[in-house]
Amino acid sequence: MRNFSHQHNAGQLLPCPNPEILERMTFADLGLSEELLQSVEAAGYSEPTRIQEEAIPAVLMMKDIIGIAQTGTGKTASFVLPMIDVLASGRRRALMPRSLILEPTRELAAQVAENFEKYGKNHDLKMALLIGGVQMGDQVKALSDGVDVLIATPGRLMDLFERGKILLNGCELLVIDEADRMLDMGFIPDIEFICSKLPETRQTLLFSATMPPPIEKLTKKFLNNPKRIEVSRAASTNKDITAFKINVNSRQKRETLRWLLRHDHVETAIIFANRKTTVRELNKSLQRHGFSSGEIHGDMDQASRLQELARFKAGEINILVASDVAARGLDIKGVSHVFNFDTPWHPDDYVHRIGRTGRAGAKGRAFTFVAEEDAEAIANVEKLTGSKVPVFGKSDVRVELVEKSTEVKDEETPREEKRSRRRDEEAQAERPRREKQPRKERSEPRRSRRDDYDDEPVPAGEWNGPRPSFLDVSLG
Ligand code: ADP
Ligand code: MG
Repeated sequence: MRNFSHQHNAGQLLPCPNPEILERMTFADLGLSEELLQSVEAAGYSEPTRIQEEAIPAVLMMKDIIGIAQTGTGKTASFVLPMIDVLASGRRRALMPRSLILEPTRELAAQVAENFEKYGKNHDLKMALLIGGVQMGDQVKALSDGVDVLIATPGRLMDLFERGKILLNGCELLVIDEADRMLDMGFIPDIEFICSKLPETRQTLLFSATMPPPIEKLTKKFLNNPKRIEVSRAASTNKDITAFKINVNSRQKRETLRWLLRHDHVETAIIFANRKTTVRELNKSLQRHGFSSGEIHGDMDQASRLQELARFKAGEINILVASDVAARGLDIKGVSHVFNFDTPWHPDDYVHRIGRTGRAGAKGRAFTFVAEEDAEAIANVEKLTGSKVPVFGKSDVRVELVEKSTEVKDEETPREEKRSRRRDEEAQAERPRREKQPRKERSEPRRSRRDDYDDEPVPAGEWNGPRPSFLDVSLG
């Protein structure tokens, strides 16, 4: 047993009822083939996560499964790995995929495909990806050559099925991934239809972070004596995430955000907003303020979404402004911060959003902005998670708040000088807690002051003022 990773991933990710007596399993204990163990090792995983530990042997025994685990707990490998071994024997047939994985979004589908490529490199398995925004011709060609694994979004699959380009009666293994998101996106009728076209004797695996009643109903209808694996309370949140809420007037959201981006040791951040227009406008505003940001939302075509994600992963930008649909489940590691520019309308999204940070044992911070119009949404979040999100206060601030009363704003000081003074203060104020500094020097480009109300750059020389009102700190 390798203890190195014990601390690092699975052990910390999931609450373990009795850590002292529970021996952690290794991948080799789970019954996977030698070839697969080699790919797992090459991928750098030394120990399975809790959901993998429980799901992998059961999938290998051809059982139906309901897997409930929070975001970032390694659900993908918990079905991809055993599927590769299950599918290793058997033959491909034209137009009849041997297994089907349903994903709610194109990004998630692409991510699962990447996983198959990574782990299946020692196996002769053919895979096809059936997602919107991609030429249908190539997808149809792959299908007619015969595939072992078909990864699809429900919409595109229905499309092809209705045109008779695909037969589902040879499909003996079905995975419904991110079921709660499928529900949010209105895919349940499609899924029911698809299920009814698959052979009844198939094996079905369903994964979800939460189990709302319609999903529970779906499992009753389409799963056969499933093994239920629940690794933590539904909708609970990760203990490696320090979450705060900030009561803020909606006109101050941008300014508050910028203050936090500059003063909370932000390395990489995802900022969620409820509307696509907010995503676009907020990204533009951040860029105008000198931040290195990008955006991802449902109106962008597939190629641009993946491209933007690649820039973020490569570190070309360190801030990604995102809508829920576009970002759902995206595998982005090492995000130091999540910001909810709006409190999400669906409380489940809160769990998914903040799950982008604090992954695989790394600590993360999550901030939720609560304006008047967010009041009901935050109440729903707190009801779902079963606890109040603490209010961000003075003691949670990571820079020293300089007393402002003595500081007189000097209008005579030339701009440049003020700016460098500000830098010095910033440098002094930021405790060297993390080795890595934010990638970008936050310069404040000059710009025409045309647009919106709260989008004015903070005057130079006032990094701690205008004092963010959310702190409600009395200075002096
Ligand atoms: P989920 O679907 O539960 O949200 P993912 O399957 O996307 O989570 O996995 C989350 C992250 O954890 C990914 O970056 C993945 O590579 C990583 N991961 C998965 N299994 C392990 C493991 N056994 N050890 C370390 N990291 C893992
Ligand atoms: Mg997932």
